[in-house]
Amino acid sequence: MTQDHSHSLAELVGQSTGPPWVGLDPVNEPMIRHWVEAMGDANPIYVDAGAALEVGLESVIAPPTMLQAWSMVGLTGTLERDSQRGQVKEIEHPNDRMMRLLDEEGFTSVVATNCEQEYLRPLKPGERIAVSSVIETISDVKKTGLGVGRFSTTRSDFYVVDDSFPEDPEGRTNAITSAEHVGTMRFRILKFAPGAQAPTMPPRPRPAITQDNEYFYEGLKAGKLLIQHCTECGTLRHPSLPGCGACGSLEWDTVESAGAGEIYSFVVVHYPQVPSFEYPLPIGLIALDEGTRIVANLDLDVDSIAIGMRVQARIDKLDDELSLPIFISAAS
Ligand SMILES: [Zn+2]
Repeated sequence: MTQDHSHSLAELVGQSTGPPWVGLDPVNEPMIRHWVEAMGDANPIYVDAGAALEVGLESVIAPPTMLQAWSMVGLTGTLERDSQRGQVKEIEHPNDRMMRLLDEEGFTSVVATNCEQEYLRPLKPGERIAVSSVIETISDVKKTGLGVGRFSTTRSDFYVVDDSFPEDPEGRTNAITSAEHVGTMRFRILKFAPGAQAPTMPPRPRPAITQDNEYFYEGLKAGKLLIQHCTECGTLRHPSLPGCGACGSLEWDTVESAGAGEIYSFVVVHYPQVPSFEYPLPIGLIALDEGTRIVANLDLDVDSIAIGMRVQARIDKLDDELSLPIFISAAS
């Protein structure tokens, strides 16, 4: 922790994050339809007035989980917020101050940890939603799996307001107290020091080892790249199979590959990312000089990889149980 702002942070607890804010658009059917399509929510009362009438509603309603969507400030945040109200000066509201103080403590990373919402009544198209938020808690410095940091919980209360709701910040603060309260959200974040306790990379997933492929992994542990060889007709095969695809024989032994070959094809995986691997992750289909192909990781600059490129196997011991072939440039 570079600076200790415990005292200043404690003073912020209980303060409003800033003046109440009114959503840019009232509750409306296009935003509702986009939401339910994105969420895959097929409940007809959100989009079909007839279905809403059948269950005793006056009109379609907004999905309750859209509560926060109606009052979001947009990407430009508080600066835009104040300029829209005719004040172009940058104001440091208590929430901005909290974030700055936490940054100064070295807790520059942020992750949302949980969110609880409470709905007091359904919202319907045409209603304007205002939000008023309070910094509810700021924790002591905690050790977490992500690193050292502080948790902060903000409570936001949502209100339906009409066209007479004031524009100026002070007027909004006063008027919100008599508006109709329609929901509450508690949003908790962890501000933490990045890399302070970086999680170690978990081990690679284990291969499924069977009596047909055990020789391959045992060979790698001994530093050898072994390939299955039909003792009847001499055909090589990989990955392992119980019988020969050329002659059908079940008799086989292994030959040691020199690990030299060329890239027959390759992919570079960007997504989805599995924690055991580094990305971008290049994977090659290598045509070994002995005459069969093998899939393996490539330890190559992604931009340098090309079909036909000469490569050479290196056997990497990943941990006590697992060694794998990784192909590098034959020129290196
Ligand atoms: Zn054979």
